[in-house]
Amino acid sequence: MYVRGVGPRVAQMLAAKGIQTAEDLLYHLPFRYEDRQNPRSLDELKAGEVASVIAEVRGSALLRTRRAPLFELTLGQGRLALKCIWFHAPYLEGKFQPGQAVAVYGKVEPSRSSSNLKMIQPQFEVLPDEGDDAETRLLEVGRITPVYESLGGSRLASRWQRRTIFNLLESLRGAIPECLPRALLERLGLPDRETALRAAHFPPEGTTFAQLQSFSTPAHRRLIFEELFFLELGLELKRRRMKERAGIAFAATDKVREALREVLPFHPTTAQKRALGEIVADMRAASPMRRLLQGDVGSGKTIVALQAMLVAMENGYQAALMAPTEILATQHFLAARKLLEKSSRKPRMVLLTGSLDDDRKRMSRGLINRGEAQLVIGTHALIEEKVEFDRLGLVVVDEQHRFGVLQRFRLMKKPNQPEPDVLVMTATPIPRTLALSLYGDLDLSVLDELPPGRTPIVTRRIPDERAAEVWDFVRKQVAQKRQVYVVYPVIEGTHDDQPEIDFSRDEPMAVEPARKSAKRGKTGHLFPKAAQEASPEAKSGLKSAVEMHEKLSSGPLAGLRVGLIHGRLDADEKEVIMRRFQRGEIDVLVATTVIEVGVDVPNATVMVIEHAERFGLAQLHQLRGRVGRGAAKSYCILMTGPRVSPLAEERLNAMVRTQDGFELAELDLAIRGPGEFFGTRQAGIPEFRVANIVRDRQLLELAKQEAARFTADSGSEATEVERARVRAQLKDTWQRRYGLVEVG
Ligand code: ADP
Ligand code: MG
Repeated sequence: MYVRGVGPRVAQMLAAKGIQTAEDLLYHLPFRYEDRQNPRSLDELKAGEVASVIAEVRGSALLRTRRAPLFELTLGQGRLALKCIWFHAPYLEGKFQPGQAVAVYGKVEPSRSSSNLKMIQPQFEVLPDEGDDAETRLLEVGRITPVYESLGGSRLASRWQRRTIFNLLESLRGAIPECLPRALLERLGLPDRETALRAAHFPPEGTTFAQLQSFSTPAHRRLIFEELFFLELGLELKRRRMKERAGIAFAATDKVREALREVLPFHPTTAQKRALGEIVADMRAASPMRRLLQGDVGSGKTIVALQAMLVAMENGYQAALMAPTEILATQHFLAARKLLEKSSRKPRMVLLTGSLDDDRKRMSRGLINRGEAQLVIGTHALIEEKVEFDRLGLVVVDEQHRFGVLQRFRLMKKPNQPEPDVLVMTATPIPRTLALSLYGDLDLSVLDELPPGRTPIVTRRIPDERAAEVWDFVRKQVAQKRQVYVVYPVIEGTHDDQPEIDFSRDEPMAVEPARKSAKRGKTGHLFPKAAQEASPEAKSGLKSAVEMHEKLSSGPLAGLRVGLIHGRLDADEKEVIMRRFQRGEIDVLVATTVIEVGVDVPNATVMVIEHAERFGLAQLHQLRGRVGRGAAKSYCILMTGPRVSPLAEERLNAMVRTQDGFELAELDLAIRGPGEFFGTRQAGIPEFRVANIVRDRQLLELAKQEAARFTADSGSEATEVERARVRAQLKDTWQRRYGLVEVG
């Protein structure tokens, strides 16, 4: 479709931002609004509030200070003035003319010089004046004005979007098809699609400003509901379709139950019993199981999965377990072998990972293919090596977020065989309501209880200056034959572009060097050389695993066996180091977050995390879960640099306060928002264009209910035409946006 204002070059820029169709552009909603109908006057402003102000340019100047060029703009209204300051902004010179009206948006700060207020780095827009055309004036002033995230430089900033979207809406007047059934909208009191789009971009007079700012106008609610409805509908249909497929009805005879009991080395927790009960019930049913087993680190998922695999094996089927890394696959293999020693059946086990040599791989494939291996444990090599199972009954996928949604179902089975059952295990604690809605195609079992007898992990925050005490403590623990992890946010240098890092993005990378060295100076240099070296690390203040491995082993931890592991080592090297640590041949393992997932070394009792302020809460929690796995008392030491943002402060305090993964997950979700909580690492969670699943949780619930109702309802609330439209939209949404399997 031809959109006024969009030529080939602009189209290219838009495509880079994921906007490929007119519809995409219409769903690119303003991220905030400015009330230019009733602008605030300067005398109402209070320091501390975030406000949008329209005032007249009095003067401006570029000041060359010692640290950075600073641009200062003075706005006035009667006798009052507001100073606006931008750093590093020589490009603003000449941008403002006295007498012009300017809208600024930012936090109001008290100003020292007089009773006047100031804003630092506000967003701004020079408003059109009589010289500009009528349409521009219409869209920019005297109304509630939408503000958009730029779609490419200053060219495709708010002003361009306002005009383009306005024109687009005009040209489509009466021609935007409804995609939801009318009766449904009426029942929920939601406006039709075109009305909603128009009102979300250009709020009609009388729209409540507070509702706009919280995206809770009827227009917003409608558009959010729409997006979530199609997500839920897709999940619901997938789930129903799966239930109609031919699966395996496993028997749970007394003999099978006895086999499960045989391997139990301990009394299962109530949660483990419940989860196993739910899994076995699914396995007995004739439709394929698709279940998510969610449990915090250490909650005991392994034994539950193993018992489920035993059910399959006792029924004469093969079971497969897929782990995200070789280390974990090997660990599962060893754990399973140990547990199955007590089994009277002694099933034949095979380990299949990418690093095996070709002969071994060929042999394993043969055993699997001929059905001689009953239990197969491996990495995604199971998929890549084109393994064909003889009689695959159950697939367990560990740490689901390391696999794509598609991948997890792609395991090879022979054609014409029933669909195997699938159990997905994850240690990512996702709040239950969210899990239910987002994994609507999976059933959910939760291990919400830790096995008894764990001593809680002592968690402490220690500022950098007291590092010497920390290394002292580490030495003492090692003297008691304990092992220690020391984790850094980066591998080497100061870059945060390494794949295993999941920075929380609320703070800039740079740390003011002046303040940092001053602090160090006061308390005595921890690493005198390091502090004086003008290395890039010292400049940014970010310590890396490689650098610190060297410094620790020659400095505070000299004499101890200090190892190093990070994501740039290849799989074999990592494996060797992990093995040595597991065998106790390394005392202190300096690492990046590669050790985050699942590695089990019960003798490790101390987790030191440097720059703890830079890690996300989920990640801190996962890291802490690496210790406290044995009987000995364990410690988690969160070391922080000189600057800790208020958000980081919140995260660290939460870590000290609680060890409950679900509580931390709720908090994480609340402070980070879903975008980062479900970062790219959690493949399979869609990105939304309008919805925000934290803010819109209630609408998510509603959408789920309505999606179920729509599928169950055979036509009372939607006409045939409406149903066809819903299906078309669903197909389009799922194929284009979520990139998931076909919906039909
Ligand atoms: P997860 O995989 O959920 O992180 P694991 O299955 O590795 O947890 O279990 C963590 C540790 O707890 C293991 O050493 C395991 O043997 C032990 N464990 C599991 N369940 C129980 C239980 N019911 N009682 C005692 N110990 C248990
Ligand atoms: Mg595990």
